[in-house]
Amino acid sequence: MIGPGHGDGAPALRLVPGGRSGPGEGTSPQRLCSGSRPEPSTSSAGPVSTQLALAGTRSPSLATLGAPWGRLLAGPAPHHGAEDLQAHEQRLGPMRLPASRDELMEVVAAVGVVGRGGGEFPLSSKLRTAAAAAGVAAVPLVVVNGSEGEPASRKDRTLLEHRPHLVLDGAEVAAAAAGAPDVVVYVHAGRPAVVTALRRALDERAAIRRPGPQVQLVEAPDRYVAGESSAVVAVLEGRGPLPSRRQVPVAAAGVGGRPTVVSNVESLAHLALAVRFGADWFAEAGTAGAPGSTLLTLAGGVAVPGLVVEVVGRATFGEVLDGHGGWDRPPSAVLVGGYEGRWVDGAALWPAPVDRPALRAAGMALGCGLVAPLPPGTCGLAVTARLVRYLAGESAGQCGPCVYGLPALADAFGAVAAGRAGRGELRRLARAAVSARGSGDCGHPDGVADLIETALHVLADDVHAHIRRGTCGGRSGGWFPIPGDGGSGAGGGGAGRHGGSSR
Ligand code: SF4
Repeated sequence: MIGPGHGDGAPALRLVPGGRSGPGEGTSPQRLCSGSRPEPSTSSAGPVSTQLALAGTRSPSLATLGAPWGRLLAGPAPHHGAEDLQAHEQRLGPMRLPASRDELMEVVAAVGVVGRGGGEFPLSSKLRTAAAAAGVAAVPLVVVNGSEGEPASRKDRTLLEHRPHLVLDGAEVAAAAAGAPDVVVYVHAGRPAVVTALRRALDERAAIRRPGPQVQLVEAPDRYVAGESSAVVAVLEGRGPLPSRRQVPVAAAGVGGRPTVVSNVESLAHLALAVRFGADWFAEAGTAGAPGSTLLTLAGGVAVPGLVVEVVGRATFGEVLDGHGGWDRPPSAVLVGGYEGRWVDGAALWPAPVDRPALRAAGMALGCGLVAPLPPGTCGLAVTARLVRYLAGESAGQCGPCVYGLPALADAFGAVAAGRAGRGELRRLARAAVSARGSGDCGHPDGVADLIETALHVLADDVHAHIRRGTCGGRSGGWFPIPGDGGSGAGGGGAGRHGGSSR
C-alpha cells in the first residue's frame, strides 16, 4: 500500500486514409542532452512504398528490438537482455532537465506525448492536473503502469525487460514535472525477468547516487482490469483491482488522495526520448495528432506470435503484416486494439495507415497496439467465443450487469459458435450486447460489447453459416493466449507465409 508521501508538497467501419502532415508542429524546445539521437525516421526519404521497394520486406519504417533505425527499440539485440546504465547513457547521453519545473512543463507540453495504454490522453494534461492539485497534504505520485493486462500484448514487457533505463528516465521526467518525490513501477505479476531487469537498473542508478525520485516496485494482480487507472489506485490503496467511476480524475486525487499520474510504460519511454531530443525530432515519426513512433504486438495468425514492431515512419497495416507478420495479402479479419478491441475487415485495414487519430475517426482504437489476424481456415466465431468467455470471467465483481450480463453474453455467443443458435437467439445476442454498453462502473462491458458486435458484423458470412449449417468449416487456430490455459490454447500459430483470406 502506498503511503501519503513524504515531501513538502460497432458502427460500420470506414477507415480514413491519413498520415502525418509533416514534422515540426509545435514549438521546438531546446535540446537537453549531448547523446546521439536514435536514427531518425525515414519519413523525409519519400513515400513508404519507395522505401519498401528499396528495403525489401523489411521497411526502415518498421523496427524490431535491436534495429538501429528504431527509436524505443533501438539498442542492443534481444539476446543481450537488459541494456545497462552505461550502455544506455553512451547511446543516448545523460538526461538533463531544465532548471525550473515551469520550463520542463513547457517542454513536455511541446513534445505532445499522447498516452499509449489505450486512453490516448495527453500526458502533459495529467502532469499539469497533478501539479495544480499538489499541496502540503497532497504530494503527487507517479505510477509507471506496466500491468499490461492484455494477455497477448508484449510491448510494455519488452521495454521493461530490455530498456528499463529508458522507462525510468521517463518516470523521472514525469516526477520532476509533477513535483512527485516518489514513483511506483506497477508491473504485471509473475514476470520475473521484468522484475530482475528493473531491480538491476535501480541498483545501477543508486550506485552512482543519481538524484531522482524514490522508486518502488509493486506487482499488479494478474487481472484484465488491473491496469485501468482507478483500479491501479485501488490496488495501491490495498483494496484490490477494483475499477470505479470517479468524479475526480486520479491525476487530481488518487492514491490516498494524492494527485496520481498513472502513465503507460510506452508513453514514459517516449517522454524520455522526446525531452532529450526535442519536439521537432519527436514529430518526425507518427502523426500530427499523435507524434512519435508506435509499438505494436503481432498476435493471432502471424509468423512470430508476440513480436513487437515499432512503426517509426509512415506505414500501413498491410506493410506491417507483410514485413513482419508473414502475410502477402489481406487476412479475412484482424482483431485490432486488444481483446476488448474490434474485429476489422482485413481488406479495409490493409491499406490503412497506423495512425491513432485516423483510426479513432474511423470509429476504432489502436488501444494497446495489438494486431491479430485471423489465420486462414480458422473459425473467427470460435476464437471470439473463447475470448468473450475469458473476459466474462475477468469482471471485478462489483456491478450486476457485468457480473451476470457478461457470462450470459458468453453463453449466447458460445451457442452461435457451436451452431446451437437460430436467428432469434442471434437477434437477442445483438440486443444484449447493445444493452451491455455503459452498464458498469468501468469500460469492461463496453469492450466485450465491441468484440461481440464487430465479430457479428465482420464475420457475418461465418455467422450465417453457423446459423444455417451449424459450422463454417473453420478450425481453431492462432495465437490468442489466455492466462492459465498454457499458451495459445487454440492450437497452431502461424509460422510460414499466409496468402490471404481462405475461409
Ligand atoms: S463494470 Fe465490471 S469490471 Fe468494471 S467495475 Fe463493474 S464489475 Fe468491475
